[in-house]
Amino acid sequence: MEHRAEARIDIAAIAANISHLKTVSGVDLLAVVKADAYGHGLIEVGLAAQKSGADWLGVALLEEAIALRTHGVRIPILAWLVPPGSDFRAAHSHDIDIAVSSIAAFNEISALKSHARIHVEVDTGMTRGGFLDEWQEFLNLDFSKVDVVGLFSHFARADEPDEKQNADQLNRFTMMVADLAAVGINPPIKHLSNSAATLKNPNATFNLVRTGIAMYGLSPDIKTLGDSKSLGLKPAMQLRAKLHLVKRVPAGSKVGYGATAVTSEQTYLGVVAMGYADGIPRIVQGAGVFFDGKRAPIIGRVSMDQFVVDLGASTTALAGDWTIVFGDGSQGEYTADDWGAASLSINYEIVTRIGPRVPRIYAPHLY
Ligand SMILES: *Cc1c(COP(=O)(O)O)cnc(C)c1O
Repeated sequence: MEHRAEARIDIAAIAANISHLKTVSGVDLLAVVKADAYGHGLIEVGLAAQKSGADWLGVALLEEAIALRTHGVRIPILAWLVPPGSDFRAAHSHDIDIAVSSIAAFNEISALKSHARIHVEVDTGMTRGGFLDEWQEFLNLDFSKVDVVGLFSHFARADEPDEKQNADQLNRFTMMVADLAAVGINPPIKHLSNSAATLKNPNATFNLVRTGIAMYGLSPDIKTLGDSKSLGLKPAMQLRAKLHLVKRVPAGSKVGYGATAVTSEQTYLGVVAMGYADGIPRIVQGAGVFFDGKRAPIIGRVSMDQFVVDLGASTTALAGDWTIVFGDGSQGEYTADDWGAASLSINYEIVTRIGPRVPRIYAPHLY
């Protein structure tokens, strides 16, 4: 079936990014595939990452981890957003490592008496997940019913490499490693780095890095770290959509809901077959599509299923033609970075929110 929109995923780019990140870090790599692999497709990217040399996969949810196992992932999987009351038995039977961030979760896992594999998550200054106030009490618990394979934490500002908070978090992490060692627990795997730290903070590498956005070929922050190209990364997702309609309109035409835009001269408008139901942010200002070597900016409000672009005073565009919403920028098209900036957001949110109505097409080949 011919689609009206599609997200083309370049599996070879993901493989190249993994290989580059492994070279940069020099240690094992955990490929972060949570949230449907940042919108790129959980199973396809998970299997591709496994085949491309990723040593681990990381997800937020237990159900994401189980889906990977049931589709043939054999490498270790860590799930880190698994609250008390979760099916820890299922996690263990699928050989999934669980991040433990609270005494309540630890007690449930210990009660299994099956020596479940856990990674202890510590809060080193982000004040989100991980042990903080319960840490001293946790250190006094009985660890004999679990297998503590990892200790980890997460940076809040790794995309601002010069911020002192990075050094503070690293120091705090080193202290918490020592706290655990003092009660006789020396987890073999210690991990702290996300993509930004993997690229810019070699002191924080330990023996595993958890890379998400960079594996998809995107920069954690183009302002502070540079763009994909300068980081040696290749964006893996190209979002395309068809023109549903092309029409010539006179000057003074009010475009879209609320008539927030009015044409200043006669022009050709294109109706693009994607909308906020597909993850096109309604708030966007200053992005658009790419057609025939030119950028055509959005005019008027984004609707649920469609938005309108200004193709200019003359165009070769016809209804049914494909446009590029974003890509790697090599032809001059908008990028996920451009869309992020134009939406008061970040590239992470742009790719992750591409909706389930948009088919993912894997090219040039699957895995
Ligand atoms: C999402 C996430 C990552 C990956 O972050 P990127 O900036 O995409 O590399 C790493 N670790 C944890 C705990 C995460 O939640």
